[in-house]
Amino acid sequence: MEQIKYMLTEKEMPTSWYNVQADLPEPLPPILHPGTKEPTILPPFLFPASLNEQEFSKERWIEIPEELQQIYRMWRPTPFQRALRLERALGTPAKIFYKYEGTSPVGSHKLNTAVAQAYYNKKAGIKRLATETGAGQWGSALALGCQYMGLECKVFMVKVSYHQKPYRRIAMETWGAQVTPSPSTETQIGRSILEKDPDSPGSLGIAISEAVEAAAGRDDTSYALGSVLNHVLMHQTVIGQEIKKQLHMADAYPDIIVGCVGGGSNFGGAILPFIPDKLKGKKLRIIAVEPSACPSITKGVYAFDYGDVAGMAPIAKMHTLGHSFVPPGIHAGGLRYHGMSPIVSHLHRLGLIEAVAVPQVATFEAAVTFARSEGILPAPEPSHAIRVVIDEALKCKESGESKTIVLALSGHGHFDLGAYEEYLTGRLKDYEYPREKVEQALAELPKV
Ligand SMILES: *Cc1c(COP(=O)(O)O)cnc(C)c1O
Repeated sequence: MEQIKYMLTEKEMPTSWYNVQADLPEPLPPILHPGTKEPTILPPFLFPASLNEQEFSKERWIEIPEELQQIYRMWRPTPFQRALRLERALGTPAKIFYKYEGTSPVGSHKLNTAVAQAYYNKKAGIKRLATETGAGQWGSALALGCQYMGLECKVFMVKVSYHQKPYRRIAMETWGAQVTPSPSTETQIGRSILEKDPDSPGSLGIAISEAVEAAAGRDDTSYALGSVLNHVLMHQTVIGQEIKKQLHMADAYPDIIVGCVGGGSNFGGAILPFIPDKLKGKKLRIIAVEPSACPSITKGVYAFDYGDVAGMAPIAKMHTLGHSFVPPGIHAGGLRYHGMSPIVSHLHRLGLIEAVAVPQVATFEAAVTFARSEGILPAPEPSHAIRVVIDEALKCKESGESKTIVLALSGHGHFDLGAYEEYLTGRLKDYEYPREKVEQALAELPKV
């Protein structure tokens, strides 16, 4: 009988985060101030000094505080298992393993950083965190992270999602967050947008601006971001460290690791601990998967760009489609970001990782194949990675090679059943790559 589950005990959990900046053959480019365009740090009125320190640290290991380790133990270590039924359904000689972050209380990996960010803010005397959320995955994670740490949580939720997707909002409210549809009358930027367009459906860019304003306006309030930043990717490295131990238990080493990328945090979390192996010459392919409708790595440029739509956030060197680009309304809301984390972008430029883009319908086809073989109903975001895992496994079927493939399965799709229904009833469609809109947005990159 083949083994399916590789379970770690609490004692085997990582006690430090891994900071890839210690091992990069070339350092990351600096981030630049949006006004002066000079090298800068994250805005100190939005982030506590401890997180700013982590952002630029060159220490290889950063200890996870005991109090946080205790909270991680509520849902970690997470499962790592062999996808035997998927392998059989595909008829592939490949061995497929997946690391599943959907067992966290919020259903995704995002809680790993939410609780860490809440912890460091609390230590800095902050009483309240403000953030934005699109479909609600990050907002849910921060709501619970704040609840664990005894902080208040204020979430600006894109108005159209607030009304169309009430369940995530209700989950956030259940975990104690105060959720406001954005644009709102609570901020200057919100009021100015509503004056011009009282029926504005909102956007992630507007919600970010409102959350930043809410944090900047009060001494007791900080801002929190769910992806992209170096410290966020570092908090997620508990995932990859566990994968390494679990692979060891399985007496296996991957030929290929695959993860989806929105801002790059679940992917970074899973793959960064493998970068030292790769630098030592291990033969290992690391594949980042993005949506064809928002392909920042495969179709964007590697350039300095604003992190936000309003051009108020620091400027970072990253793969970008242009900060003013508004991605089409694909169901994988977590993958609709114009840029890519500086770390993932840098690794791609150094040739340490590859990227591919996949369209929406093929993604849901893969998700349904996965659900019908493994049982887990994946979120639309990691279904992008599942598509590529299945394609690689089918290549093995043709060549007869028995490769070992690891899938980073970042969360479940229980709040995305509307999207599944569209797919199952044949109404789901692919979006053309919006070439013209990207070209327009790329013309607006900051001059540095
Ligand atoms: C938010 C989210 C993503 C995309 O964000 P990354 O920072 O790229 O990981 C992927 N999967 C799930 C389940 C998410 O909630």
